[in-house]
Amino acid sequence: MEDTKRIYISPGHGGGHGKRVGRITEDNIVLGVSLILKHLLEEQGGYDVMLARDGDYYVSLSSRVKESKKFKADLFLAIHANSHSYPDKNNSIFGFEAFIHDELSDSRDNIFVAHLLSAYGAEFEDKPLMRNRGKKENNFYLLRQRPAKANVLFELNFMTNPMVLSFMNSSLGQFRMSKGLFEGIKTYTNKLKKKA
Ligand SMILES: [Zn+2]
Repeated sequence: MEDTKRIYISPGHGGGHGKRVGRITEDNIVLGVSLILKHLLEEQGGYDVMLARDGDYYVSLSSRVKESKKFKADLFLAIHANSHSYPDKNNSIFGFEAFIHDELSDSRDNIFVAHLLSAYGAEFEDKPLMRNRGKKENNFYLLRQRPAKANVLFELNFMTNPMVLSFMNSSLGQFRMSKGLFEGIKTYTNKLKKKA
């Protein structure tokens, strides 16, 4: 199908490389969200989805970039769970944010990230702990390599906040986080399809 959009989803880390709070790992949270997101996109139709990993094993950043470029991805979405190292602030720091490259980003990255942040925020209007910390810019390797036409790294929320963590680790939480990202991808790609 000509209209099909290719989405490369990159669940961060794997194989114990991500953050860990108690027995809960970032590797598994972002994998859970990514698997549901892939399912939602495929169920919707019009998307060809590739996952950087579908289990708890490590995949290097360079092979993710290579794979996404070979796939000719329209969208590259890296999914992570945030943390910080100020234990006295665990309860006061929370919320989601998303990164684009600080120098190489273009209008597509900017529009993609805006759609993701607003759809994810809309999914969680009832949940003050899921607050929107907004768009950030950084020189992350994955974003610098431009693996797709539009490239975003999304931080779902902070694992260091105990209430957030239990939500992020629950099936309902993971479904709703995926749903928010799905709606963002859908509104952005619908816009692309209209233009084409
Ligand atoms: Zn991470």
